[in-house]
Amino acid sequence: MINLGVGLPLRIGKLGIHNLPHGYYVYVGSALGGLASRLRRHLRSEKRLHWHIDYLLRQAAVAQIWYALGPDKLECKWNVILRNLPGATPSIHGFGASDCRCSSHLTQFQVTPPLGLFKHSLEQNNLPQIYQLNELNSRSTDLDCTIPRIVGQQTDVLAHP
Ligand SMILES: [Zn+2]
Repeated sequence: MINLGVGLPLRIGKLGIHNLPHGYYVYVGSALGGLASRLRRHLRSEKRLHWHIDYLLRQAAVAQIWYALGPDKLECKWNVILRNLPGATPSIHGFGASDCRCSSHLTQFQVTPPLGLFKHSLEQNNLPQIYQLNELNSRSTDLDCTIPRIVGQQTDVLAHP
């Protein structure tokens, strides 16, 4: 979940310039190459702009991170559920959705997205539970500590169901 404090025009790579209203944005993605390194990248300000999300995060702050661990790509399923939440508006056609049939992997909300409803809907659709990453901090050293600990807990849960 991303917070954009003031509305502004923003260039999103080849998608061009978009006028983004202030508010909250929820981006869904997968990190099949490793969650910790991907999140560190999202939170780092110094990087080459590669993905659409990189352009947005130059101007907007990461407010919360929610994740599920597992072998399956869940981003498109999550996206459908997000779109059906009250207050959801699809944002920037094509954003983060170059490899799938979704119109965009970015959803805008004027007020805090109803993530309680989102979690409830995941349950109803028999999708894995999601967890919030706590102690969110852009300093990568903190993330280094946080994510392996969470992944460790998850592994433990899976090993002892
Ligand atoms: Zn998709």
